[in-house]
Amino acid sequence: MLHILIVYPAHRIDQTLRLLKQIIPASARLGNAVNQFHGKKLYMTNQSNFPEDAPFTDFRHCPRCGTASLYKYDGRAIRCGDCGFVLYFNCATAVAAFVIYQGKLLLGVRGKEPEKGMLDFPGGFVEFDETAENALAREVHEEFNIHLSSLVYLASFPNDYLYEGLLYKTTDLYFICHVNDISSLKVMDEVTEFLLVAPEEVDLGKLAFASGRNAFRRFLAYLDRSVPCINDRDLI
Ligand SMILES: [Zn+2]
Repeated sequence: MLHILIVYPAHRIDQTLRLLKQIIPASARLGNAVNQFHGKKLYMTNQSNFPEDAPFTDFRHCPRCGTASLYKYDGRAIRCGDCGFVLYFNCATAVAAFVIYQGKLLLGVRGKEPEKGMLDFPGGFVEFDETAENALAREVHEEFNIHLSSLVYLASFPNDYLYEGLLYKTTDLYFICHVNDISSLKVMDEVTEFLLVAPEEVDLGKLAFASGRNAFRRFLAYLDRSVPCINDRDLI
């Protein structure tokens, strides 16, 4: 077996591979070997708070050129070692509301995966070119057919959202909201039923998603102290 030691500047890997493919017949295998090494090195030198295997290994072929030369890149992206295509997995922005009506908290039962059947707070993903506040009002209306009377930002929590086998990393923004009128309240969209319960009666174990449980703990702290707080511990 022939071993070749290749020294190349990290930002020139694409040019290096193209040059090698011109002069070495078994170029594809060599290219993949370099990619694997390159990807591993990048992973080891980057942050480790991402899952090691998802979503980076869910894609095998480059969406641009079709070559199976993808490797993890820059901590949260995949890059094609053949054509240089780069796709970043940026956090998706989501919003959720602690909707309060006459001291009761509004919850819905999730009608679809992930976390089907679990209790969830009104909310959803922010659309392109939409503000978080508008997204919140839109989602609350789409799911429960009511209009928010007020909203105030509480806190954000990261979350993992597994959909159709693909992991989405999200940043969930939580707001405290009030409604003055629930006469039109009914479940729609992907919610199968609703509950209006006192906050202290909510079963934490039945809440969907880690971010939902974390945010609910924060919400209870807000009720105790009467102030939305972002304390030092949360910034670690
Ligand atoms: Zn490519």
